[in-house]
Amino acid sequence: YFISFEGIDGAGKSTHIDAFAKLIKERFPNREVVLTREPGGTALGEQLRQLLLNAPMNLETEALLMFAARREHLIQIIEPALLAGKIVISDRFTDASFAYQGGGRGLSLDKLNTLEKWVQGKSDQTILQPNLTILFDLPGSVAEARRSKVRAPDKFEKMDLDFFERVRQEYLRRAKNDMKRFHIVDATQTQEVIWRDLELLKLPI
Ligand code: C5P
Repeated sequence: YFISFEGIDGAGKSTHIDAFAKLIKERFPNREVVLTREPGGTALGEQLRQLLLNAPMNLETEALLMFAARREHLIQIIEPALLAGKIVISDRFTDASFAYQGGGRGLSLDKLNTLEKWVQGKSDQTILQPNLTILFDLPGSVAEARRSKVRAPDKFEKMDLDFFERVRQEYLRRAKNDMKRFHIVDATQTQEVIWRDLELLKLPI
């Protein structure tokens, strides 16, 4: 079973993901839980992450490196874990590429669809996707105010409000097109309310 966490920077997904993994371990004591992240998750992926977060680069290069890191992540970590019956929880997956490189930066959805097929396509023509995607949704302005309190921004976090609004809208558009997979969390609520929501989430694992 494959779960991804998504949302714009400052939405709070990282705050909840460790506790969520703990909750899943308690609820499914016989299943191993793998907590991982994108970009990253493998040694090469973490190196690519450093480049992606720090080096200026062309948009297509950025998308290709994101998907290269994802390919490695899938082959080395996610697929073997799923095959072994483990529960995989990833801090971001392909929805982030559609939201950031697509919605945010304007890369065509066609190109992203092609990369997705290439990297996640299976022999039966289906595409490997998370079974559940938890989307932390909130307005770009609220996220910005939260981010400025926490830490120095990386390259992507220095973008303006319009950028984050576009990223948010692309996340929401994808969620509305796939309500079976997505669970949207109103991330403006208090951490206690959000946590209650996550605790009550039904997981058909
Ligand atoms: O989720 P996390 O904060 O670790 O992501 C690191 C950075 O990479 C974030 O600023 C995020 O916006 C960016 N990112 C991106 N495109 C992706 C995945 C992450 O721009 N496909």
